[in-house]
Amino acid sequence: MSLRRARLARTVLLLAEVVLTASCAFAGELHWKKVAPLTDVAASYRLKVGHAVLQVDFAPGDLDLGTTPVLDHIGKAVSAIVAYYGRLPVQLGCILVVPVPGRGGEPHGTTWGDMHGCPAFTRLGIGQHTTQAELDNDWVTTHEMVHWAFPSQRRDHHWIEEGLATYVEPLARVKTGELTAEKVWHDMARDMHQGEPQTGDEGLDRTHTWGRTYWGGAMFCMMADIAIRRETHNRKGLEDALKAIVGAGGTIDQQWPLEKAFEIGDKATGTHVLMTMYAKWKDAPVNVDLERVWAQLGVQLKGDTVNFVPSAPMTKIREAIAGDSTKRMQAAL
Ligand SMILES: [Zn+2]
Repeated sequence: MSLRRARLARTVLLLAEVVLTASCAFAGELHWKKVAPLTDVAASYRLKVGHAVLQVDFAPGDLDLGTTPVLDHIGKAVSAIVAYYGRLPVQLGCILVVPVPGRGGEPHGTTWGDMHGCPAFTRLGIGQHTTQAELDNDWVTTHEMVHWAFPSQRRDHHWIEEGLATYVEPLARVKTGELTAEKVWHDMARDMHQGEPQTGDEGLDRTHTWGRTYWGGAMFCMMADIAIRRETHNRKGLEDALKAIVGAGGTIDQQWPLEKAFEIGDKATGTHVLMTMYAKWKDAPVNVDLERVWAQLGVQLKGDTVNFVPSAPMTKIREAIAGDSTKRMQAAL
């Protein structure tokens, strides 16, 4: 076979593989391929996700569960990310699983851009005695992968990185049916108030407490999502802005001014929501009447669960942000 024909055959083969795995990424049937481990690594696996590749390496150490449940768990996070963003945000994403001796509990994650030759690199510490239930409860893996999908920011804009990860993680997991809409809205209605400005707090670019960074950032994202949906008659949402930012190359391995990302996001939704909100929220504390927001969305907190009020004025917006995935799938059929 000539070199050209050999290259062509390889391209056809690669394309066939890509198509196959892209559809599987949504169906949850992920095909991990065991590959030769890198130096200092006990085992390595690779997963094709559309045109992108996910590499998972296991550092030496024991895990009671073994590797398969961990790969399944990472696979769920990948499916959630693909369901939200339509793709793996980076061409090559790497997860290093580090068994932590003598411990159980939910994983701990840290993520960097452009590390060890990977555009997006996440270190996932998993306790040796972690149980299946603890793994099933874990939100950290998806949270860390949301970080892959936004350009790196200066320290004073850290709130948008953590706010997006806090807000998008459950919305991505509800799309694959991993979480119910009730669970997502219950947790948001219970926790979002932690982002409200406290006495003496300034805008999000100036006050860097845990509450303002994670939940203040998430509150910015939720209010932006609602505003985009109201302005576009629910045709567009924050999701469209974020997909456009990733589409323009705005991923964790890039350093962008925040305004550049927001301008691209606004263009994609045909609104000025992100730039207008940012101008208000960056320097001054913005109070949100969250009780009114929940009432308008039709979310009533009832102990450990939530009641939805179908007659509430923003019911359609609530369902578009996080609706029951089984109902959505049935509606699509
Ligand atoms: Zn984070």
